[in-house]
Amino acid sequence: MKCECCNKNNRDVRELLYKDALSSIRENGHFKKLPVVLVERIIDTAFIDKVTICWQVKDRCRCHQCLGYTWPPVVSTSDSDSDSNDYGSDYSDEDNDYCENDGYIYRRGYAELCTRCFLEGINRVLRSTNSLPFLRFHSNAFFNKIPVEIDPYKYIIPSEYNITYYRRKNPVKNQDGRLVITSS
Ligand SMILES: [Zn+2]
Ligand SMILES: [Zn+2]
Repeated sequence: MKCECCNKNNRDVRELLYKDALSSIRENGHFKKLPVVLVERIIDTAFIDKVTICWQVKDRCRCHQCLGYTWPPVVSTSDSDSDSNDYGSDYSDEDNDYCENDGYIYRRGYAELCTRCFLEGINRVLRSTNSLPFLRFHSNAFFNKIPVEIDPYKYIIPSEYNITYYRRKNPVKNQDGRLVITSS
């Protein structure tokens, strides 16, 4: 699978990012006695190769109410063509004077990122706001190309990351001092 940001293969990125750790696992005498498939499976569990981020996307509602047409159409009674109606017969006079979307439609946006692009996005937001990404516009930080340094061993990353106002806004320190980024 390819990263939706850098377009590189997720597994190739992981190999480079965690090069030292992965080779020390593969070269370790104890691990060498195990079947290669098993060792690779252990590596997959300990070092995930992709993170799905999701956030809220705000689109304009394209309905006639939200676009600002008046409904029912204002027809001047003094006008002789008052019976002309170019809105068609799809709309009933009673039910269409209100749209519950109130101008906008919200949907979930998703992207599958390699571990490098994920950590870079996290670090861009951490540096500028001192918190993990939690606002809708923070999702942009995962796709801009502003260089930022990352320490891949500092964080334990989730397989899914929710950008939402109600999420945990800071990493949690675990027993060995590494920072856990939770998914929500
Ligand atoms: Zn990437
Ligand atoms: Zn609408």
